[in-house]
Amino acid sequence: MPDSTPFQSVVFLGAPGTGKGTQGKVLGAIPGFFHLSTGDMFRALDPASDLGREFLKYSIRGELVPDAFTVSLWQEHMAKLIAAKKFNPKSELLVLDGIPRNANQAKLMDGLVNVLRIVHLDCQDEGELVKRLQLRATKEGRPDDAKEEVVRRRLEVYREETKPVLAHYPERVIATVNAVGTPAEVLLAVLNVLAPVHTAHFANPLS
Ligand code: AMP
Repeated sequence: MPDSTPFQSVVFLGAPGTGKGTQGKVLGAIPGFFHLSTGDMFRALDPASDLGREFLKYSIRGELVPDAFTVSLWQEHMAKLIAAKKFNPKSELLVLDGIPRNANQAKLMDGLVNVLRIVHLDCQDEGELVKRLQLRATKEGRPDDAKEEVVRRRLEVYREETKPVLAHYPERVIATVNAVGTPAEVLLAVLNVLAPVHTAHFANPLS
């Protein structure tokens, strides 16, 4: 029987362009942390498959993929990572990037993840975010970064649907980190929050 213990997790929450993926990837390179981006999970789908087409239908408009589809795909993806021994929930802290993305997803995931900390990457300057996303569009060729109207819609979806996720969790788990700064400066602040969480829940993976 599969183990149904919730994953010990931390969540990055922030508008598009605040650096969730950048910070998540760096953390994921540290032994004991496992980074999972739902955007990356979706982008890895074959765009010609039914699932891939379903994702593109929403993402090219800057909209969220429906909750039931997203959470069940995420569950299947986690099960595959565990079966392939890529993720070990007993020894690694799961770093979630891009999920939960609205209050309903937070509710659906309540029994599946134990959210120890939320890093709220905060940037009040939307102009700065639009600039970062435009730069990423030229570097990574993401279609949802290329059009300003889609970028604006994603920022709106963040304000209206994702930011309210914070209200789902107790205030004591939320740490707000200033997302304006170099990636290294932001990383310093993120590690100040997350290194103690890792130490409190997991053994040193190198000892
Ligand atoms: P991201 O890379 O996190 O910016 O995600 C890119 C796109 O993937 C989003 O604009 C959504 O269309 C979709 N997506 C990623 N995560 C989720 C989620 N948790 N719920 C619904 N849609 C998502």
